[in-house]
Amino acid sequence: MAKEEFQVPEVREHLEIPPVVEGAMAHSQPFVAAADHQSLLGYPEELVDGWEDKAVEKMGEMARKYRSFRVFLDACVKCGACTDKCHYYLGTGDPKNMPVARQDLLRQVYRRYYTLGGKLFPGLVGAKDMSKEIFDDWYRYYHQCSQCRRCSVFCPYGIDTAEISMAAREIMDSVGLGQKYCNEIIGKVHKIGNNLGLPLPALEDTMEGLEEDVEEDTGVAVKYPVNVEGAEVLLVTPSADFFAEPHVDGLIGYGKVFHQAGVSWTVSSHASEAANFALFTGSYEHMFKISNRIREAALELGVKRIVFGECGHAWRVAYSFLNTLAGPWDFLDPRYPVPQHIMEFTYDLIQRGGINLDPEANDDKVVTVHDSCNVARASRMGTRPGDQFAYPRAVIKASVNRFVEMDPNTTMEATFCCGGGGGLLTDDLMELRVKGALPRMEALKEVVERDGVTHMAAMCAICKSQFTKVLPYYGMGMDMVVSVHQLVSEAIQLGTKD
Ligand code: SF4
Ligand code: SF4
Repeated sequence: MAKEEFQVPEVREHLEIPPVVEGAMAHSQPFVAAADHQSLLGYPEELVDGWEDKAVEKMGEMARKYRSFRVFLDACVKCGACTDKCHYYLGTGDPKNMPVARQDLLRQVYRRYYTLGGKLFPGLVGAKDMSKEIFDDWYRYYHQCSQCRRCSVFCPYGIDTAEISMAAREIMDSVGLGQKYCNEIIGKVHKIGNNLGLPLPALEDTMEGLEEDVEEDTGVAVKYPVNVEGAEVLLVTPSADFFAEPHVDGLIGYGKVFHQAGVSWTVSSHASEAANFALFTGSYEHMFKISNRIREAALELGVKRIVFGECGHAWRVAYSFLNTLAGPWDFLDPRYPVPQHIMEFTYDLIQRGGINLDPEANDDKVVTVHDSCNVARASRMGTRPGDQFAYPRAVIKASVNRFVEMDPNTTMEATFCCGGGGGLLTDDLMELRVKGALPRMEALKEVVERDGVTHMAAMCAICKSQFTKVLPYYGMGMDMVVSVHQLVSEAIQLGTKD
């Protein structure tokens, strides 16, 4: 969608609750998955006959299987605490983008078929029969949720709209209505090993090119290995790190850190993707298949440790599910956590004096940090609560002299999604992405104007891609976004120790 086809929201001085505009985003929906994308994942190729009953049946099956899903549907008391917490509501004013209203799209059907009140007195409890109108709203508005969990932080019952949104997408897939972007990507990972469909020769070429560039730049022969048997570390990183800007600068940084640590490492062409889009579609089956590629690669290469690169939802899946999905990992070195985040690896190295960083190398920058929602709220790192915030800040502060925080209402646990997470990073949702980025853009603009911030560091591939695309809509340069390990890469003094 071209810039001119929608109005970019005005950046205000303070976060403001927008006026309600009924149906403001009712036209927004992603492209539907084609028949071959669906069949490859084992879903019906198109909306099946009797889809209404089948969708309701699937919902009941999930409510029986996942207690959290049922509790989230039953527990809401309509207190309203979540209504103004979603970036998509703040950026669009569409009332169906209020988290409670988004939940209610599914809850109204659940109540009708799975609660006594809904069966007997539907009108009194807001219960409705499944209908095409409701189903169409599911497709629209469950694809206007980036599953960021911000609303759940403010809900007194901890109701997680992200889980409801994942469940809705799984139900839609099961009756033949899938989203093209996510399902096509999941299929590519099953077939080739990464989201991009990048084959081994292209991967090898890219990594060889990085080796040449880094050696030319630093005079040091830093290795960027592929499929090396017996390497200590298997790096599992988002495939965007292999080619996109500023992601690739982060990958260059990881290589320099491993080099400096004296740790041998490799990427695997079989598991050349940290991202696991099956999280977004709520499918444990596909999440397992993607995660299991990592296990197969680790066994095949005989590595001792697994380290994840900068990718928010990949870390969410790894942190929360890797052990249950693809464990046990008893063949790895028990001295290290499984999985380990590159931020933990670098932080640890800094603490041990194993790396010499010269922050003056980044003196052309005033840096702030964007906490990626999946790292902030859906996972942790390190050993103490809050280390997922402390570690990236410690790594950044060791690499730059000038660091500024954004408004605390928009960082750490309260961070706003970039606007492109949850399987929404697709051009057919550009309007939603631009509008959903508003709260982050406002907070960023504030520190740009007040503190002269020039760069915003991020540790998620989706955030980096999304910001690169939307910053120009708000009058800021796409190159303001940097990888955290890009800052490390600039500051690292190869061949020296603290
Ligand atoms: S999970 Fe995030 S995107 Fe979804 S409703 Fe809640 S705040 Fe909005
Ligand atoms: S904050 Fe929680 S309980 Fe209150 S309306 Fe939102 S989802 Fe319901």
